[in-house]
Amino acid sequence: MLVVLMGPPGAGKGTQAEKLAAEFALPHISTGDIFRSAVKEGTGMGKKAKEYMDKGELVPDEIVIGIVKERLAKSDCSDGALLDGFPRTVEQAQALDEVLGDLKLNISAAVSVDVQEEELINRLTGRRVCRSCGATYHIKFNPPKVRNICDHCSGELYQRSDDTIDTVKERLAIYRNQTMPIIEYYEQKNLFHSVDGARAIDDVFVDIAAHLRSIRG
Ligand code: ADP
Ligand code: AMP
Repeated sequence: MLVVLMGPPGAGKGTQAEKLAAEFALPHISTGDIFRSAVKEGTGMGKKAKEYMDKGELVPDEIVIGIVKERLAKSDCSDGALLDGFPRTVEQAQALDEVLGDLKLNISAAVSVDVQEEELINRLTGRRVCRSCGATYHIKFNPPKVRNICDHCSGELYQRSDDTIDTVKERLAIYRNQTMPIIEYYEQKNLFHSVDGARAIDDVFVDIAAHLRSIRG
């Protein structure tokens, strides 16, 4: 099963992907996480990506597409994957179809987690991430048991440099202008399914999991 998890920044894609990956035994592929690792390692690609990420802009399609193509070709993706934060443009969606065609895989569903902008701003500016394992928390809505310490690995939590109010507003505008057109792309292919993301994390999860079970048969 290959699932595209869509929705604006802060909708809860990463949070849901973590739970869905465990439930359905699928590799979780987050392009944002891949870029953040490359930035941390100081690779050439990481340095290039950082220029865009710091401004809240999208990393150019040719860089992102190459990375996803390489990742999907790995053996753990032979039965599918959970794509989180990719595709983000119609060009990326078209390229994904080509890559999957070569790998003899099909998209099972494009699930969008929907949340209003005001709530997205609250979620993003209060987000904290584990430096070691990448687990996501929120200072109010999903706090760790011990302040600033990851429940899973005891790593230190930090605030992403692009989770500031100005960058968040830019990322939301880019989502509206560049990413929303892929909704129609997947609607036309009868793959689109949206869920109300403005509910408790577990309620959103139950809805998405039920949809995935229904299409898996
Ligand atoms: P995305 O991957 O879509 O950018 P995240 O999964 O990182 O979003 O979630 C953004 C922030 O909102 C995080 O701080 C997370 O803990 C919090 N969050 C996620 N889902 C919910 C929810 N259903 N209710 C409240 N807060 C949530
Ligand atoms: P995310 O972790 O999904 O919020 O992504 C963080 C940042 O990484 C984005 O603001 C972009 O700069 C970059 N990024 C992640 N995924 C993509 C993508 N599919 N296309 C272009 N840029 C991306």
